[in-house]
Amino acid sequence: MHKQLLIILSISVSLSSCAQQAANPSSNNTTSNTAMNNENNKTNTPPQTEADWKKILSPEQYHILREKGTEYPGTGKFYLHKEKGIYVCAGCGSELFTSDMKFESHCGWPSFDREIAGGKVKTKLDTTHGMIRTEIMCANCGGHLGHIFDDGPTETGQRYCVNSLSLDFKKQ
Ligand SMILES: [Zn+2]
Repeated sequence: MHKQLLIILSISVSLSSCAQQAANPSSNNTTSNTAMNNENNKTNTPPQTEADWKKILSPEQYHILREKGTEYPGTGKFYLHKEKGIYVCAGCGSELFTSDMKFESHCGWPSFDREIAGGKVKTKLDTTHGMIRTEIMCANCGGHLGHIFDDGPTETGQRYCVNSLSLDFKKQ
């Protein structure tokens, strides 16, 4: 009796996990080549070693996200990007900003006036390059995003200045 119940239970559990997997696969094939190549490797569990990071990131993404690099202003694919959707961390897929938060900053990098709620972006004092700035990072994987400034033109007064290479985009 108990045995049968267990069998039925385990069958239904494995069926539902199959259904979840089937619902999951990369349905957004509209993103760029880089994003598509990396899509399958990304989960919200980030890699533990730098060697593993190098496997899932392009060299350019690795430099920005893991070595705190900065892309040349005006060169990023999301700088003038205006589609509706969600900007996610290029390292781990964590949702960080929406297109509604993006504004035209004329500074050369994608800029947002706020972040998606829930502590998905963390900050740290950055005193490199002779400046005192506040670095922003993905709270989930620690990837470098850019910096935040308090000179934003919207009512929040904030400007999240983010490298395009730190981001992927999910169209809505
Ligand atoms: Zn991340």
